[in-house]
Amino acid sequence: MQMEQLTALCKRRGFLFQSSEIYGGLNGFWDYGPLGVLLKRNVKDAWWNDMVMNHNELIVPNGAPATYEMTGLDCTIIMHPQVWKCSGHYDLFHDYMVDCRESKKRYRYDHVIGRFVTGKKRGEEGAPSVEMSVFVTTMETENTQVALDEAALKFFGLRKKDADSLQWNGNIQSISKLPSLENVVAPDAKHVGTLTEPREFNLMFKTVIGALGSDDDAAFLRPETAQGIFVNFKNVCDSTRVRVPFGIAQVGKSFRNEITPRNFTFRSREFEQMEIEFFCHPNQSPAWYKYWRDRRFAWYVEMGLSGERLRLREHDADELSHYSCGTADIEYQFPFLQAGEYGELEGIAHRGDFDLRSHIEGKLVKDGNQLVLEKLPDGQPRHRGSGKDLSYYDDLTKERFIPHVIEPSAGADRATLAFLCEAYKIDTAPDEKGQPQERVYLKFHPRLAPIKAAVFPLVKKDGMPEIATEIYGELKKNFSTFYDDKGAVGRRYRRQDEIGTPFCITVDGQTVQDETVTIRDRDTLEQIRVKKDELLNELNERLKK
Ligand code: ATP
Repeated sequence: MQMEQLTALCKRRGFLFQSSEIYGGLNGFWDYGPLGVLLKRNVKDAWWNDMVMNHNELIVPNGAPATYEMTGLDCTIIMHPQVWKCSGHYDLFHDYMVDCRESKKRYRYDHVIGRFVTGKKRGEEGAPSVEMSVFVTTMETENTQVALDEAALKFFGLRKKDADSLQWNGNIQSISKLPSLENVVAPDAKHVGTLTEPREFNLMFKTVIGALGSDDDAAFLRPETAQGIFVNFKNVCDSTRVRVPFGIAQVGKSFRNEITPRNFTFRSREFEQMEIEFFCHPNQSPAWYKYWRDRRFAWYVEMGLSGERLRLREHDADELSHYSCGTADIEYQFPFLQAGEYGELEGIAHRGDFDLRSHIEGKLVKDGNQLVLEKLPDGQPRHRGSGKDLSYYDDLTKERFIPHVIEPSAGADRATLAFLCEAYKIDTAPDEKGQPQERVYLKFHPRLAPIKAAVFPLVKKDGMPEIATEIYGELKKNFSTFYDDKGAVGRRYRRQDEIGTPFCITVDGQTVQDETVTIRDRDTLEQIRVKKDELLNELNERLKK
């Protein structure tokens, strides 16, 4: 599937629009249209239902049977600035950027990729050609070498037929791997060496609280929902009867001032996360880490992502954050990535007691194998914690400890995009006249489909619209249903296929006589007749699968 086909469908049928489109759009911001909002809500509801409401499994971490509880929170987007100082985001949450002096464009340092190439650069105004070796670049794309070929031809001033005169050296790599940026031709530049040295860029959006607007009033939009959970850990323990092990879940908006937002909604500046912080006894945390890693992977498979394009990748020891004893990413082969590349859908991290301790003591740093308070030269903490006791007392074992945390952190927008990519299918199906025709359909899991059923009267007469309207009214009380009486019935089926509606119900001449209707299956195209009275039960059964 080409990504352009999917993005066009998303706009045409109302899944996704660019934010503020009538003013030219705003890079990195997306609006969900009438169908998109239903799809994304179904993704979030499925996650919430499966992870929070319906988790009563008996698990055996470390051989000791345990059940666990899950609860939820909904915290604010703007929090006390000290939260971000202690969590490390204030000092450490940055990417490196480079600016192009010629095009005035800004790029994320590690996202500009390219390859060394040698050729003869056409001299300007009749001057002789000069042999040059440069590193031509592009932003990561589906077909990088094609983009690099174009960039090289442009730089050397050659025509396509002269492409053979170019000599490519080495592999495609990021400019962040080069010892210097001297020989780099930036993606939109005509000259070589126009990129500035990389600089740090904090990804948190800054804002101001109140009318005075002094530096003391600066605040940040949260870059993750997790911190709201940590700072409320004690409130949740004190106000509910939860016992460790238990988890707190939150779904909500997060903001990151990404340097180069791209790939549709994959890297946005405003997006939604679905996060769990799972608190457990330190002795049991490795087992709980494995439990959540496998459970989260299985969830995506259950929701319809195929094993081929989905993978679970354990981080190597050198990739782990300084506090983590294990992290795995669930990754998906998005069609906009190069062959063999994967994009992160969710990270599952064993975070030890890093977060709770940071909010007790202040910002921590690694000293050998220990996490210690980061201090200023005068011995004062660099960022002071709350000083509150966030430990947990187990009244059965009479033990007090700071729980370890396992964090499955997922993106609702990335998951929604993966489900859209996976669902996009093209096949051939007979049209109204029985002729084979190409058919585009979205093969969503029934739980995720924005519209579950569409009801059609075959024609707008002979009592059919009345019966169809009555059925529509009945079904609508149970799940999202669509009514359509416009155009040939075959066209109506196609319109529903294209938005992933699993079932179409048609009221025809026979319905008027024997009270049966047809149910047509989106994937198999099979049609069966059922009694009107049994329709709801039949659909409910089929939607569960
Ligand atoms: P990446 O390396 O792709 O920037 P990350 O490792 O920084 O992602 P986390 O901080 O682990 O991401 O965030 C958890 C989840 O939040 C990610 O797995 C992803 O699904 C989602 N997410 C993070 N950044 C973005 C973004 N800019 N746009 C959309 N979703 C995002």
